[in-house]
Amino acid sequence: MSPRRNIPRRRKGANRPRDDESALVNRITGGEQYENGPDGQWAIRRISGAAAVKTYRCPGCYQEIPPGMPHVVAWSAYGDGDDRRHWHSSCWNRRAHRSVRYPRR
Ligand SMILES: [Zn+2]
Repeated sequence: MSPRRNIPRRRKGANRPRDDESALVNRITGGEQYENGPDGQWAIRRISGAAAVKTYRCPGCYQEIPPGMPHVVAWSAYGDGDDRRHWHSSCWNRRAHRSVRYPRR
């Protein structure tokens, strides 16, 4: 009889903080929520103003999100987090209620 194979799983980084920023965000928000959008399921986190320490570019309106502004981080629920993007809260809400095409090239 063949011994039971114990195959190590190589890709299990999805739930692990990838960097300091994720760890910080995780601690502040207590983890992510899931939303179904017109283009699939998305994991989101709501970032408080105090936790927003960098400038981001919102993919909804192409305006900057300045440090100190509460906003939303969203990424594909089935991805590995590499497509994580920062949205204005209002842009995210608008996106969720309209079937806008995701900007892509
Ligand atoms: Zn925006």
